[in-house]
Amino acid sequence: MTTKQQAQPKPLLETMTWPEARQAAENGGRVVLLPVGAIEQHGPHLPVDVDNRIVVWLCHEAARRRPDLILSAPPIHYGFNEHNMGFPGTITVAIEHFINYVYDVCHSFVRQGHTRIVLVNGHGSNAMPCALVARRIVNETEDGMAAAISHWHLARELAARIRETPAGGMAHACEYETSWYLFLNPDLVRMERAVPDMLAQRSQYIWVDLMAGDGPVAFIDDWSRVSNGSGVEGDPQTASAEKGWRYAEEEVGHLVEFCQEFKAMPLLPRRNYTARGRDPNPYANFD
Ligand SMILES: [Zn+2]
Repeated sequence: MTTKQQAQPKPLLETMTWPEARQAAENGGRVVLLPVGAIEQHGPHLPVDVDNRIVVWLCHEAARRRPDLILSAPPIHYGFNEHNMGFPGTITVAIEHFINYVYDVCHSFVRQGHTRIVLVNGHGSNAMPCALVARRIVNETEDGMAAAISHWHLARELAARIRETPAGGMAHACEYETSWYLFLNPDLVRMERAVPDMLAQRSQYIWVDLMAGDGPVAFIDDWSRVSNGSGVEGDPQTASAEKGWRYAEEEVGHLVEFCQEFKAMPLLPRRNYTARGRDPNPYANFD
């Protein structure tokens, strides 16, 4: 008698046939990781695909480690980038189109049977629209739950320990992003062109720092007005492949852990206590 070996489920949707995709979506399905990136200038030393390359690697790696729990989806390559259109190699999608397009992709996963979706964002300006898409999935579908993560937030504690750039100076094509790229694909990094470029502080209320948090006031100016011409914000000269590897390990570990937690999160019934609802008014006797 031959025993049929149980095949390991495939981690990536793009390699599946439809019967395999059906299986991955059964009983609420595996947690879908949707990488959301951007094509955008990243200084004179990094390619324009930084934000895509990082999130695709993260999502694929998380799914490779736990293919029973996670399904990694093909990415959203283009993002909301209007503020960087003064730099070559940047492509932008209007914010309404971006929200609707990403929503449609997430909604499709819900229609196919998946009930847990995580948008894994790699680009600062996508953070708010991704959070809105996640909210819409929760609000507008019966049993879909979507969450949004900007991947750098998964490594805040590590960054506080290993960063060399002072707080307020880690925002774009910086120590952090350059370290990631040196880990993922050092051949494409032109370190001889990496220049520190700290934006002049224009207000005690406004600053951007991926790791230490932003200032209390939300204000993003056109990048060409505030950058000194490099497109960098931070000090990429302090980057290293070793730091990149540590960030990658930290983030993939937390991402898998969150997926486990998110999958186990119960879907509680919605209540309707209004006069039109069927749920009894718990305060009926207090008037
Ligand atoms: Zn970036």
